[in-house]
Amino acid sequence: MKKLLWAALILFASSPAMAEVEGVVSSIKPIHSLVENVLGDSGKSALIVTGNQSPHGYHLRPSEVKKLSTARVVFYIDDDFETFLVKPLSNLDKNVVRVPLVKAAGIPLLEARTSGTWEAHIHAGEEDAKHDEHEENDEHHAHEDMHVWLAPENAIQMVGAIEKALSETYPAQAKTFHANAAHTIKKLNALDKKLRTTLKPVEGKPYIVFHDAFQYFEKAYGLTSVGSITLSPEQAPSAKRIKEVRAKVSGLKAVCVFSEAQFSKRLVDSVMEGSTAKSRVLDEHGANIQPGKDLYFILLSRIAERMESCLK
Ligand SMILES: [Zn+2]
Repeated sequence: MKKLLWAALILFASSPAMAEVEGVVSSIKPIHSLVENVLGDSGKSALIVTGNQSPHGYHLRPSEVKKLSTARVVFYIDDDFETFLVKPLSNLDKNVVRVPLVKAAGIPLLEARTSGTWEAHIHAGEEDAKHDEHEENDEHHAHEDMHVWLAPENAIQMVGAIEKALSETYPAQAKTFHANAAHTIKKLNALDKKLRTTLKPVEGKPYIVFHDAFQYFEKAYGLTSVGSITLSPEQAPSAKRIKEVRAKVSGLKAVCVFSEAQFSKRLVDSVMEGSTAKSRVLDEHGANIQPGKDLYFILLSRIAERMESCLK
C-alpha cells in the first residue's frame, strides 16, 4: 500500500516534465499558428520560415535545416509549395512523421488562375528554383493554387489533421490535443462569422492583385478579383509596362489594387499614378505578425479589414 502511494507521488511530481511535447516542427507562420493552438500548453512547435520573407522560392539556411534534425513530426502545406523542404525532408529518418496538410486534410485544390486577365505567376527566387532538382514540382505548382490556409474552412480541416498526427505521435497527450482542437475550431468558426460581417458590404466590388494568393479567401466571402498584374518585386517596370498596367486597372474598373510587402511603395505608386483606384498592402503569410497562437486570427482579420477599407 505504502509502495503504491510512493509510486503515485513520484508520478504526480514528475508529470509536468513528462507532459512537454518536443520535436514538433512547422514550415510557415500560419501553419505554425494552427499547430500551436492544438498543442496548447503541452509544448511548442519550432517554426522554419520565421522572418518576413515570402515562402515562395525560399531557401533554407543551415540553422533552419538544423531545426529539422530533432523533428518527430513536420507540418507543412505540400511538397509543391514549400519546395525548399523537399530535400531536407528526404534526408530525415523514415520514422519522422511528414504531414503535408493539403493531402492530410483532403482539401480540394483550386486551379491557379493564369489565363485571360490573370497574368502568369512569378515569384522572387523562382528563377533559381527552376535550375534545381525540383523542376517537376514547379510545373505542378503552376496548375494548383496552394494558398489554402487563407480560408477558415480549410483551417478547420487542417486542425483536424494536425490533431490526428499529433495524437498518433504523442498518444499520451491525445485527450489534450482533442480538447484544444475543438476549442480552436470554435474560434475559427467565430472568425469566419466575423469576416463574413466585415466583408458583406464589399461583395462584388472589382479589384486587382499583384500576387494571386487570395482565391480561397475570395471564394469564401463572395469577393470579386478581376485580374492580376505580374511585376517583379526586384525590378522597376519599364515605362511601357507601367502604361499597360494603368490601362488594365482602368479597363477592368478596379476599385482597388492590392500589393504585397515584397513590392516597394515606389513601384506601387508609379503603377497607380493617375489612377482613381486605391491601393493597399496585403499580407498572405503574416510577414510582420509575431508568430504564435494568435497569428492566424490576426492575419485573416487584417486581410479582411484592408479589403473592406479599400473597397468600400
Ligand atoms: Zn503566395
